[in-house]
Amino acid sequence: MTDQRRVVARVLSKADDHPDVEEVYRRAAEQDEAISIATVYRTVRMFEEAGILERHDFGDGRARYEPASDEHHDHLIDVQSGRVIEFSNEEIERLQAAVAHSLGYKLVDHRLELYAVPLDKDDKEGE
Ligand SMILES: [Zn+2]
Repeated sequence: MTDQRRVVARVLSKADDHPDVEEVYRRAAEQDEAISIATVYRTVRMFEEAGILERHDFGDGRARYEPASDEHHDHLIDVQSGRVIEFSNEEIERLQAAVAHSLGYKLVDHRLELYAVPLDKDDKEGE
């Protein structure tokens, strides 16, 4: 692996906020100012093809990345701030498998994204 690829790999393995390529580039350039955005694009694509990286589309048209993991989680996207929150919920997992099963399928994978705004005071009082 070239040094520049290694820089990109390090940035990605440290990131827990699902950065897009431009953000990865910004962080990589802090460590190696000679790095180009083309190199970052190429490297990210290579890691994605190798299954090291997972790509997400959270509805804003920008591809976001996170290190691939064996542990499954889903995402909630705060549409006001863009913040991405990871969660997993056994009931949802069970339901999805049941839905697939009722349609004559065995579930092998899924993606779930919740788009949400923070509760305001009134919403919370209504609970
Ligand atoms: Zn995630």
